[in-house]
Amino acid sequence: MQQATVDGRMFINGERVPARSGRTFAAIDPATALTFGTVADGDREDVDQAIAVAARASKSGWSDLPPVRRVRVLNQLAGLVRQHRAELAGLESLDVGKPLRQAEDDVAAAAGFFEYFAGVADKVFGSSIPLGRGFVDFTLREPLGISAQIVPWNYPLRLASRGIAPALACGNVVVVKPAAEAGLSIIRLAELASESGVPAGAFNVVTGGRETGAALASHPGINHITFTGSVSTGIAIMKAAADHVVPVTLELGGKSPNIIMEDADFEKAAAAAATTLMQNAAQTCTAPTRLLIQRQAHESFVRILAERIHTIRLGRGLDNPDMGPVVSERQMNRVLQYLAQGARDGARPVTGGGRSDRPELSRGFFIEPTLLDHVQRGSVLEQEEIFGPVLTVTTFDTVDEAVDIANGTPYGLVTGIWTRDLQKALLLATAIKSGQIRVNSYSAEGSIGLPFGGYKRSGFGREQGVEALANYTQIKNVMISYG
Ligand code: NAD
Repeated sequence: MQQATVDGRMFINGERVPARSGRTFAAIDPATALTFGTVADGDREDVDQAIAVAARASKSGWSDLPPVRRVRVLNQLAGLVRQHRAELAGLESLDVGKPLRQAEDDVAAAAGFFEYFAGVADKVFGSSIPLGRGFVDFTLREPLGISAQIVPWNYPLRLASRGIAPALACGNVVVVKPAAEAGLSIIRLAELASESGVPAGAFNVVTGGRETGAALASHPGINHITFTGSVSTGIAIMKAAADHVVPVTLELGGKSPNIIMEDADFEKAAAAAATTLMQNAAQTCTAPTRLLIQRQAHESFVRILAERIHTIRLGRGLDNPDMGPVVSERQMNRVLQYLAQGARDGARPVTGGGRSDRPELSRGFFIEPTLLDHVQRGSVLEQEEIFGPVLTVTTFDTVDEAVDIANGTPYGLVTGIWTRDLQKALLLATAIKSGQIRVNSYSAEGSIGLPFGGYKRSGFGREQGVEALANYTQIKNVMISYG
């Protein structure tokens, strides 16, 4: 990756532009703490400009195109994303710190979102409703207009594409605000969209921090917000949107349980649990970081998992290790504070437990993959999202107890269940309050088609799958009397 070529200007009206104020902030490599470029620090004026051009694009073109033309453009974009896989993955790995292999998977997922929603762009059907002789009644599903997309730093390209693809497919235009920590791949995606035929002004990116996001969320010109990020920011965004009666789709945090029953395939479950740590250093909203282990399985499972964790190689993302650093110094300190709190609350580290002491990693934000045993129900580490490479272990005896512990946090995003007994799996799956349940596997090819979103404080609205179309269309009913 040629670091000198990193272009941190934003993308408005089909071209790269600096912030109107001329201000920039540093892009920092989390593996070395060194600055590798600068990014435009957009503010309210840049947001105003992006909304103005998006409004023009919305009125003149994209939403009125025959849907089959949007199908072609979005398929073209999917193809271009695949062609630029190495470049996009390199940017993402450098920006976020994740292993290159994982960044390549994110690029493939991004292309997959454009392909999937290209496939439905000309199938956004309404319905006809019988009113009897003399009437015809039907519904139209129309685009909302300008969709504001506010994106977190952990999976910039993947999560931005998850919202942008259905928004564009339904005929909306977008203004995207990536996180300040990492968003370079999203600016590049906007350029590729333009090359694919997305008209100027239909896909804009304004980079910046919290204030930039707040300026976008409170703008009277937007018609919808998709936000992925923390619960506290989600609440602030909902309040801002309420002032203009703007609908929001919120994908917030998680504290996902991973339930290991005594009859589970321990090797398979342990491999998946170790992958949870390695995958983006567990800075993943869906990460099942809360291991609930049935008492009879506890000793063997913890031993098998610890053996696997000991083999995890840490390193700089671009060198393709098993696990990279966390995204920033702030995030590293946050995770270290949680580990200190865990120690005070009696949790016992089986592996890791602090910052990596390897000299070659000392400048970066590396935390050892950590397995904490004897984490008490209701303790801070069992309740709060750590967002770093830490798995906690709590034991239970019965299915009912597992359900109580699983449901015992404010979150409800995803739940993992490992058992050979499908009856137990179904008892757990139906009793646990969570937007997704994954039994005996935590991943599957084609999962883009599965509706995804939260129960409780994990948010509302469903991304992915055809369910996502509900976020990006409004229904108009047309009643005609011909009698
Ligand atoms: P964050 O809430 O701090 O920031 C997310 C985005 O919101 C960033 O672009 C940020 O600049 C912007 N922002 C911050 N304050 C704002 C405000 N007042 N108004 C408008 N925009 C504002 O979250 P983060 O630290 O970037 O990401 C980590 C969090 O995201 C975790 O809680 C994680 O679980 C969650 N997350 C959820 C999902 C999901 O799909 N449910 C996916 C990934 C991450």
